[in-house]
Order: sequence, then C-alpha cells, then structure tokens
Amino acid sequence: MSDPLIACRGLCHTYLRGTPMEAMALDGVTLEIRPGEVVAIIGPTGSGKSTLIQHFNGLLRPTAGEVRIAGEDLWAPRADRRRARQQIGLVFQFPEYQLFEETVRKDVAFGPKNLGLPAETIAARVDEALRQVGLDPGRFGDRSPFTLSGGEMRRVALAGVLAMRPSCLVLDEPTAGLDPRGKEELLERIAALHRKGMTLVLVTHSMDEAALLAGRIVVMQAGRVMLDGSPHEVFAREDDLRRIGLALPQAARLVRLLRGRGMPVGDALTIVEARQAILAAVRGMGRGAH
Ligand code: ADP
Repeated sequence: MSDPLIACRGLCHTYLRGTPMEAMALDGVTLEIRPGEVVAIIGPTGSGKSTLIQHFNGLLRPTAGEVRIAGEDLWAPRADRRRARQQIGLVFQFPEYQLFEETVRKDVAFGPKNLGLPAETIAARVDEALRQVGLDPGRFGDRSPFTLSGGEMRRVALAGVLAMRPSCLVLDEPTAGLDPRGKEELLERIAALHRKGMTLVLVTHSMDEAALLAGRIVVMQAGRVMLDGSPHEVFAREDDLRRIGLALPQAARLVRLLRGRGMPVGDALTIVEARQAILAAVRGMGRGAH
C-alpha cells in the first residue's frame, strides 16, 4: 500500500481554551488518507467535520496530536506549511462568496499569482483549471463571475483551487444550495477529477452523495471517529447511524421498503444499484410465475 498523503494521530482540538466558552471539537482522531482515495466524512452538525479538515492543510493547529502531510509533520519547527497548503486544496462551504475579481480569469489566477509564477504559466494553469471544471476558457474567461449561475460560480471557485495544482482536494459540502442540475454537473466534475487520480475528501450531509462518490466513509460523532469503512460496511450499521441522526441513502431505503412488502430485492446504495437490484428481482419473480 502507498504511504498516506494525510495522516492524523491522536488529533485533538479545543476552541477558546481556558475560557468559559471552551469547546472540545476533536478528541483523539487517528486517520489516514492515501493517494487516489475518495473519502466521505459524514456526521451530525457539531461532530467536528469542519474542524478536522481545517487541520489537513494547517489552517488550524492541533491542541494535541499530530498531522503529517506526505510523511512530514505539519507543525514541526521547520515544516513547510506553505507547501502543504498548496498540496492540500481546501474548498470551503459556499466558496463562490470569496470570488471578488472583475473576471473569471483573474479570479482563478489569484492563487498561482501569489506563488509568483511567470505570466504564461499562470495563463496555462487558469485555462487548464477552467477546463477541469467544465468551463470553456474562451467563453467564460473574460466574464464577470457575478453574471454566472450559482453552479458556474461555484465551479469557478473550485478552478481557483485547482489552479494551485493540489494533489488532494478537500471539499466542505460541495453541492450545498445548488439546484439539481448544478449539483449533477459539479458531482460529475468531482468524479472526473477522481478518475484522473486526484485524492478527494468530501464533507457531506448527503448520504446519497457519499454512497455515489466515496470508496470509504468516515463517520464522526462528538469529535471522534465512530465508524470508518467501505460504504457497504458503514451503511450496514443502520441502527448506529440512526442513533446519531443519520439515515441511509435513499436507494437503500427504497430496496428495504420493497423487501418489507415482499419483493425479493438485494441491497443497493445508489440509484443505479437499486435499479439493477429491482430489475433482477422483477425478472426472478417473472420466472417464478411460469
Ligand atoms: P461540524 O463541521 O461537524 O458541524 P464543527 O467542526 O464545525 O462541526 O464543530 C465542532 C464543535 O466545535 C462544535 O461544538 C462547534 O460548536 C465548535 N466550534 C466550531 N467552530 C468554532 C469556533 N470558531 N469557535 C468555537 N467553537 C467552535
């Protein structure tokens, strides 16, 4: 197995330490993310998901424990945190609120410009990043970001992070607030990035998106990792999930409902799997009738 890209060991984080408002947000998280993985982080509100991912690129400093990026301790005295920030691209919730330049091109160029790269390299990176999010540079490059649809604006913000050429993208609720079409387009782009080898960490409230995209799901609860496994392993723990307010993906609920009504349908986590399982069951039932 390859070495982990991100490794947290005994990671703790307490906000406002030593004040009456002190809050322990992370309580001993040990977790490794390997190159090429797609990991969904799920859990109820306040379970520590946002706090955790802000440790992945050194935005937050652990109160205790350590974070290593590609083997390097992020908080060692001579650690290169700038490099880590470039390697681990963090996309916040509603990242389009941070767009501010007059044109799409200038906005996407902002990060690479700060790296001090030559103008031609910046221009090439901007075009490449826009293509990666499905926006034609010729059509969109000179437009104001504020004339775009919500989904397009979000993809511009994502392009701004991709232009830094990260090896891992960490996305906090990437589809929140988008209409169904905007969601679908963005999910397709995210899946395409994975197919090209990008490591992805995805914080999501949507069990459907976790089931659709992730090869592994980490469930956070009260600042700890409660479950960590494949989607099938994690969603098999329905009672544990329900106890912390999490439901199964819609497709899983549908096949269970059908089974409850006597249809011999197998398990499914995504709509495509549910369709196959239902078709197989219907065919089987048809054969049984002859
Ligand atoms: P999640 O992303 O799962 O909703 P968070 O990481 O945002 O969880 O929050 C974990 C805990 O830390 C919560 O109890 C929250 O109230 C607290 N918290 C988060 N951010 C801050 C902050 N900036 N100051 C103080 N407490 C915070």
